[in-house]
Amino acid sequence: MRDLAAGLARVREAGLYRSRRIVDGPQGPEIVVDGCRRLAFCSNDYLGLAAHPEVVAALRAGAERHGAGSGAAHLISGHGTAHHALEEELAAFTGRERALLFSTGYMANLGVVAALTGRGDRVLEDRLNHASLLDAARLAGARLVRYPHADTGALERRLAAAGGECLIATDGVFSMDGDLAPLPALAAHACAAGAWLMVDDAHGLGVVGASGRGSLEHHALGAQDAPVLVGTLGKAFGTFGAFVAGSEALIETLIQRARTYIYTTAPPPALAEATRAALRVAEREPWRRRHLAALVERFRAGARTLGLRLGESPTPIQPVLVGEADRAVRLSEALLARGILVSAIRPPTVPRGAARLRVSLSAAHTEAQVDRLLEALAEIDAAPG
Ligand code: PMP
Repeated sequence: MRDLAAGLARVREAGLYRSRRIVDGPQGPEIVVDGCRRLAFCSNDYLGLAAHPEVVAALRAGAERHGAGSGAAHLISGHGTAHHALEEELAAFTGRERALLFSTGYMANLGVVAALTGRGDRVLEDRLNHASLLDAARLAGARLVRYPHADTGALERRLAAAGGECLIATDGVFSMDGDLAPLPALAAHACAAGAWLMVDDAHGLGVVGASGRGSLEHHALGAQDAPVLVGTLGKAFGTFGAFVAGSEALIETLIQRARTYIYTTAPPPALAEATRAALRVAEREPWRRRHLAALVERFRAGARTLGLRLGESPTPIQPVLVGEADRAVRLSEALLARGILVSAIRPPTVPRGAARLRVSLSAAHTEAQVDRLLEALAEIDAAPG
C-alpha cells in the first residue's frame, strides 16, 4: 500500500497543499469565511444571481411543489416538468433544437465525449482545457491529442495526421486565463477535416456576446460550426448543474449512450425551477452584463497602471500572473490580511511557473470594491520582480 502520509508531506513541502475554507451564508461580494467577513473575488457567480431573491424564491416554491429530491434517474421516474421546461428554455436560449440537463459540467463533458468517441478515435484538445474535458477523452478510451494553447496551426497539423473519427473539444473561455478560444479557426479546421467541434462554454454563457449567449455569439458562429455546446449552470446562472445543447439526433444519442446521464439521480426539480428564474433575470436585466464589462475595464486599467502582469482576457476572469506557487500563496495571504479573498492558483491546475492570483469579478461588485482590490494589490507589491 502507498504511504499516504509521506505523499501528503511531499505535497506540503512543494507548497502545493490544498485546503478548504468554510463559508457561512449566501454568495455575494462580501462573504463570511472562517468566521470573518471578506471582500471576495473568487466566485464564478458572474451575474450575481446565486443569492438573487427571485432565484431563491423559485427554489423555495419549487421545493414546496416538487419536494426536495427527484427520486430517480431521468430515464426511470426522475425527469419532471421543471427539468423538461428548463431544457426547452435552454434550447431556445442557445438557439439549438434540443438541450439535455446533466448533474454537473464535469459529468456532461465525461458523458458527451464518451458517447461520441471510443477506441480508435481521437480527441484533439487545447492544452489548457478544463480537467473534465481532458479526463473525458481518457475515460472514452479515445486517443487524447493535445495542442499548444490556442495554436490553431498545430491543431491543423495534428488533424492532418489523425486517422479515424476526430472530435475537437475546447473551452470557449479558458477557466484559469479568461481568454477566448480561437473558435472561428477551430470551426474552419473542423469543417475542413470532417471533424466535430465541441465547445464547453462554462465561463462564456450568460456573460460573453452581445446578448450573453456566449463565445459562439461573440464570434458570430452557429450550430453548424460547433454542433456540440456544453454550458454550466453553477456560474453565470448562479445555481448548479449543466446542459448539452445540440441537434435532435445528438440529444437522443446522449439519452441512449451517455453513462453519466443514464446512471445517476436526476437533480432536484426545485433546482431546475431556480435556474429557470435565473435565466429570466439574466434576460430581463442586461445591465448586469454591462456593469460587469465596465468593472473588467476598470480593473484592467488600474492593474496596468500598477504594472501588474495580466492575461489577455476580456472576461471577468482576470489572472494576475505572479510566477512561482509559493509567491502566489504569499500574495494571496497578504490580501487576506487586508480583508480580501482572492485564490492562488498553482500547479497542477496551471503550468509550472504560471501560478497566479485568479481574480474574478461579478456584476454584484461595485466600482469602489474593485478600487479597494487595486489598492490592496498596490500595497502588497504584486508586480513582477
Ligand atoms: N468546464 C469548465 C470550463 C469549467 O470551468 C468547469 C468548472 N469549473 C466545468 C466544466 C465543470 O462544471 P461543474 O462545476 O458544473 O462540474
